[in-house]
Amino acid sequence: MPEYDYIIVGAGAAGCVLAYRLGADPSLKIAVLEAGGADRNIMIKIPAGFSKTVHNPKLNWGYETAPGPHIDNRRIAFPRGKVLGGSGSINGHLYVRGQSADYDMWAQLGCRGWSWDDVLPYFKRAETRGNGGGDPSVRGNDGPLHIQDQRDPQPLSDAYIAANAALGLPRTPDYNSGNQEGTFLYQQMMKDGRRWSPADAYLRPAIKRGNVHLIQHALAEAVVLDGKRATGVRYRVGNGEVQEIRARRDVILSGGSINTPQLLQLSGIGDPDWLGDIGVQVQHALPGVGRNLRDHYAVRVAALVQGAGSLNERSHGLRLVAEVIRYALFRKGLLAQSPSHAGGYYKTRPELETPDMQLYFAPASYAGGRYGATDLDTRAGMTLGCAQLRPESRGHLKATSADPRVKPEIQPNYLADSIDRDALLSAMKYMRRLLQTAPLAQFVAEETLPGPGIVTDEDWMAHARATGSTTYHPIGSCKLGTDPMAVVDPLSMRVHGIAGLRVADASVMPTMVSGNTYAATNMIAEKAADLILS
Ligand SMILES: Cc1cc2nc3c(=O)[nH]c(=O)nc-3n(C[C@H](O)[C@H](O)[C@H](O)COP(=O)(O)OP(=O)(O)OC[C@H]3O[C@@H](n4cnc5c(N)ncnc54)[C@H](O)[C@@H]3O)c2cc1C
Repeated sequence: MPEYDYIIVGAGAAGCVLAYRLGADPSLKIAVLEAGGADRNIMIKIPAGFSKTVHNPKLNWGYETAPGPHIDNRRIAFPRGKVLGGSGSINGHLYVRGQSADYDMWAQLGCRGWSWDDVLPYFKRAETRGNGGGDPSVRGNDGPLHIQDQRDPQPLSDAYIAANAALGLPRTPDYNSGNQEGTFLYQQMMKDGRRWSPADAYLRPAIKRGNVHLIQHALAEAVVLDGKRATGVRYRVGNGEVQEIRARRDVILSGGSINTPQLLQLSGIGDPDWLGDIGVQVQHALPGVGRNLRDHYAVRVAALVQGAGSLNERSHGLRLVAEVIRYALFRKGLLAQSPSHAGGYYKTRPELETPDMQLYFAPASYAGGRYGATDLDTRAGMTLGCAQLRPESRGHLKATSADPRVKPEIQPNYLADSIDRDALLSAMKYMRRLLQTAPLAQFVAEETLPGPGIVTDEDWMAHARATGSTTYHPIGSCKLGTDPMAVVDPLSMRVHGIAGLRVADASVMPTMVSGNTYAATNMIAEKAADLILS
């Protein structure tokens, strides 16, 4: 049976980092199992290709949420990358670390070693900031992950930023410094106008060294246990025979917030009642596996524009041809754009210590309008979005069958908590005020979403329930901690009670970070590599 020092399950945002950092020691032999295949699709590389990859079944697990009791019982499409680079190959490129207070909160909850001061060196080590480098006390300049400013900022985005300033929210020099408050153009995980995915940054350089063995199209079906010790992984390539590989040191799960808890449950590690429901024998009772699932829920406001260019007019006919040529020659223009351009962090209540709301802006409107729609509308427009930063609403992730190919139940429980609902209500009204504020107001031809018929608080909440969606940030389903519901030890990344088994991915975040979750996941894997090697 093939034997490795470490087996990493999942070549996504975290798994690629671990392969690179652990593989730096040439004496170590490492296997990486990835359920997806190569990331050659050109739409992965071109930033505007987001709309073509986000629901592409060849690159995607294609999940959807369970009906949400607080969002009109709707199911929501829930993409997760199934390809080299994982969700890092299909995400929206936005580089957002969160607030220093997020990590200080983790430490406060008992996760020693995870305060802002502890994790900042890992954020810095990971990145090459580009565009002048930024403040060296908080930004890094020789890491594998390339972060760039937008190459082609749009005038409408500037008007959006100015309208925020007019309402008292000024521009901030670097929202990734630990203090987020203010507005900005989003920094992006790109190099020279192309997506710079975890596979580009970490996996391919790791494989080049010769001691990292990548097995693609390999679905890990269970962690092999010998009593309370993990000894290997059972997996299957396509419809082939079940195979097994052994780990001399550790099995490291980096399958993400949906698949990691599912794999633990299928391996007999989880809540005994839940395991009983699917006929899996309990190997180790750990009730927190799959609980504490949180996600960002976002709502949009949109308007048709006049007197200013939007991306819509450039998305068809001869103008599109010109954009394709422009991108091919200069890596600029329509095709170099992420779905979100500008943004902001603000407090929905003045008494808050730090922002509780994230804002998104795109100088474009989308067919269907509602959050999650990605195909550009033919009419010129702009779209504003908002998501409460640290949702109190929590849900769960539960395997629904002992068969690893059957999709698990994903229940984020959006808007279950009144704190989340109140913050969203305030932010939706703020977005309308932005549309009515100079200099943005001069470009507004007509509010199309939700439209002038929405007036009362109840109208707004109905809009939120009916049209909101995920911003693709599930976390917390195998949280770090030392309390009875914790799954992973913050000092070692070991699964509590099982030797030789560690988790490092977005699932370990005990609470939501204030923003998009890639940067935090990247940092977690950087730090996990050090903890594992020590
Ligand atoms: C559409 C979309 C847009 C997003 N936009 C942004 C953004 O703009 N900015 C941002 O910061 N974050 C964004 N995110 C979130 C960010 O990409 C994720 O937080 C991050 O990738 C999570 O990393 P991970 O390592 O936990 O999981 P992933 O990156 O999802 O990696 C998990 C990997 O494990 C593999 N895997 C899972 N189970 C198994 C198994 N049983 N056997 C073998 N392999 C397995 C998967 O195929 C996948 O490759 C977005 C996510 C999505 C889906």
